[in-house]
Amino acid sequence: MSGMKLAMMQNPYQSKTCELKSSMSEVACYVCGKGLDDGSSITAKTLPNGIVLFCDLHYSLQ
Ligand SMILES: [Zn+2]
Repeated sequence: MSGMKLAMMQNPYQSKTCELKSSMSEVACYVCGKGLDDGSSITAKTLPNGIVLFCDLHYSLQ
């Protein structure tokens, strides 16, 4: 169970980190990159490594 969760957490983080660094000023989901312009509701969440933003879908998955 914990192994599955770890894999889910790592993959999107690794593939999106560089892409999102250039648009940190925008309000967008940390996982999928969707933002308010895409019709998503963005919610901030505090994780051990800092504050990140999630859309409705990915916030519920955390
Ligand atoms: Zn998302």
